[in-house]
This record gives sequence, structure tokens and C-alpha cells, in this order.
Amino acid sequence: MASEQLFDLSDGHRAIQKVARDVAAAVEPFAAEADESSGVHERTAAVLRESGLARQVVPAGYGGESETLDPLALAVVREALMYSSAHLDSLFGMQGVGSYSLSVGGSDEMKAEWLPKVAALEAIAGLALTEPDVGSDLRAITTTIERRGGDLVVRGRKSFITNGGAASFYCVLGKEDDGYSMVLVPASSAGLTAEQGADIIAPHILGELTFDDVVVPETHRLGEPGKAFSLMLQTLAVFRVTVAGSGVGLGQAAVDEATAHATTRTQFGRPLLELGAVGQNIASSWADVESARAMTYRAASLARTDPLSHLDHSSIAKVVATEAAGRAADRAVQSMGRFGLVRGSKIERLYRNARPLRVYEGATEVLLDSLARRLGKEAAKKQAGKKVS
Ligand SMILES: Cc1cc2nc3c(=O)[nH]c(=O)nc-3n(C[C@H](O)[C@H](O)[C@H](O)COP(=O)(O)OP(=O)(O)OC[C@H]3O[C@@H](n4cnc5c(N)ncnc54)[C@H](O)[C@@H]3O)c2cc1C
Repeated sequence: MASEQLFDLSDGHRAIQKVARDVAAAVEPFAAEADESSGVHERTAAVLRESGLARQVVPAGYGGESETLDPLALAVVREALMYSSAHLDSLFGMQGVGSYSLSVGGSDEMKAEWLPKVAALEAIAGLALTEPDVGSDLRAITTTIERRGGDLVVRGRKSFITNGGAASFYCVLGKEDDGYSMVLVPASSAGLTAEQGADIIAPHILGELTFDDVVVPETHRLGEPGKAFSLMLQTLAVFRVTVAGSGVGLGQAAVDEATAHATTRTQFGRPLLELGAVGQNIASSWADVESARAMTYRAASLARTDPLSHLDHSSIAKVVATEAAGRAADRAVQSMGRFGLVRGSKIERLYRNARPLRVYEGATEVLLDSLARRLGKEAAKKQAGKKVS
């Protein structure tokens, strides 16, 4: 009874969804182990590799599936993968997030070298923006990129980098003169060291990277010098709504777990679901998740034709879906009483996995802040229009 049956997914999207659901089902028996992993869980990676799904995140011509990436397909895939495992979802999602600057801003030589390997999951991608002292406010970064002869020299530290230590290359944001640039740094580069990152409540492959005068040729430059924010914007425009897909998948899993428990456990002579508050809790989550799915598919569908123009809708979908996932996981734990608190249970894992979704790739408050600014601009335009007429 999920709303994807009401939304007009094409036959092509349904076919991709089927592949993703099969992958999720294959990983489910060892998903708990994968989700405890802070390195690549090889069995999970092997199932994903075998499925060919990573071809969805790379453009055709470089081993990918289609000419331009399809945010709706990616959201549908992430929904299915996250239903089973956050590790699986991250392995898939980061192949795209980590390589998209290369897809849109790399030289043919760089693209030919790396993208077919990304599509085949033979190379793992990373995107290095965050620094020990800089998170949401990326204009405050201190990593530098400097031209030296025909080379680029990268100097600085990056923190909380997904796939840090496991990736084959990183797309790295740095300051260059008065602007911000991006450069591809292979993991094997001299002067680049990766240390194990923080051990967070929902284990994740995280690394701390140090770039100690790392030298790469100018051909490793991504996009125009000083124009890295445009590359990041293009990445967000395609991938932000896919995190909403992850939120929907996790929220649905929480609803299903809670429902299974509340229909089989009886208290006061009745299934828990029939004790008003429990049923209402789970039904509220269902309503949240269905609304989030509708918004996510709609925003992803808009992003298919013109991702940048619809970034606001992607932000709304990300806020709606990840907040819904958080509420659904929390209510599910409550509905399951003490059983929802047991370490190693699926719902306990979902509860922890829901939390980072509201922080990374644009914390809820940061997105709401930018949406509020948009409202202000639109209101100012309307007021100016009234004065003219
Ligand atoms: C699991 C995980 C994986 C990650 N992977 C990567 C990665 O691969 N690459 C990478 O570069 N980074 C990555 N990060 C880092 C992530 O991008 C940052 O955590 C995120 O940008 C927020 O920065 P911060 O944590 O430093 O929070 P801060 O910037 O310190 O913000 C703290 C809180 O303040 C509020 N806030 C901040 N700014 C505003 C604002 N303008 N208006 C209103 N409220 C605001 C928000 O509630 C926010 O949560 C990852 C983080 C996690 C948790």
C-alpha cells in the first residue's frame, strides 16, 4: 500500500527499483553486520557490484547507464537500499556524490581514467569538503590549492570524509587565490594520509585526510579555477533529493518493523496496534512516510529535466523525508517498548541510522535557512512588481 503505486513511475524506473530491491533483499541477512562496519563490507560491496547499479551514477560514454543522471532513478534506488542497510545505501550514493564533480568538470582524460571504474565499483569515490573546524560554512575552509608550474599543490586537512581511507580518489575543495577550486587527488598521491575517522552512533566509513603539499598535474583540475561552488551546486542539485529517497526507505522500514511487532504482541488482551495510542503512533508515521515519498518522487521528477532550477524542491524533500524518518524511527521504538531498545535489534539500528540523515548533505536548519531566504526574495519581487503596476 506504499504510495509509489500511486505515483507514475515509468516501466524503466520500476525495472531499476526491482533490481535495487533484489540487491537489498540479498544484503538483508548480513545487513546488521554491514551497518556496524567502518570499512568497506566486502560481501555487501560484492552484491552491489554484481548488480551493476553503480552504472546509474555515471554518464554514458564512461561506463554509465544514461547520458544524464536521473535523480528519480537514484532516489528510488536509495529508498530500496536504505530499507535494508545504511552501509549499502552509502556505498551506492557516495559513488555518485563523490564522482559527480569529475563527471561534470573533469578533463576527458580524467573521466576516462576513473569513471568506468566508479561505474563498475572497482574504484571508490570520495568528496572532501568538511574540515576539522569548518562544516556548514564552507566558505571558511582553509585548505589551499596553489599553482606551481604545470602542477597544483594541495595543502590542508579534511574531516568526516565518507569513504576516507577506502576511496581510490577524492574530489577536494580548496581555496585558490580569491576563489574556491576543486581538484581530483588519487588516494595513492605522495603526501596524502588517511586516518580512521570518528566512531559515530551509526557506524560509517569515515576518514580524516591530511594533504601535506600533495602535488597533482593541472589536468586533475575539476571545473574552472575559482568556480568550485558551481560544481558543488550541480552535485547537490542531482543528489540532495536522493538522500530524501534514503529517508523514505528508512522511514518505511521503521513503519514495517513497528507494525509487525504491534500486530503480533498482545497486552491487555489485544494486539498493541489496537491500543489507541500505539496504532495512532504507527499510523502517524505511515502518513509521514507516504507524504515524504510523494514529495520526494515529485521533487526528483522535477530535477530530472532541470536540477538546478528545482533545488528548492529537492531541499524541501530532503527536510521532509529525513525528518519523517527520524520521527518514524522514534515512534517505532516507543511502540515496541523495551524490545525497541535492545542493541542489535533492527529497530535499534534504524533509530541510530536515521540520525545522521538530518545532519549531512545540508543539515535541516541550514536548508530551512536557505528556503527562508528564497521566500524573502520571492516576497521582495512580488512587492516590487506591485509598486511598478
Ligand atoms: C555520516 C557523515 C558523513 C559525512 N560525509 C562527508 C563527506 O563525505 N564529505 C564531507 O565533506 N563532509 C562529510 N560529512 C560532514 C557533513 O557534511 C557536516 O557534518 C555537515 O556539513 C554539517 O557540518 P558540522 O557537522 O560541522 O555542523 P555545523 O556546521 O557546526 O552546524 C551544527 C548545527 O548548527 C546548525 N546550523 C549550522 N549552520 C546553520 C545556519 N546557517 N542556519 C541555521 N542553523 C545552522 C545545524 O543544526 C547544524 O546541524 C559527513 C558527516 C556525517 C555525519
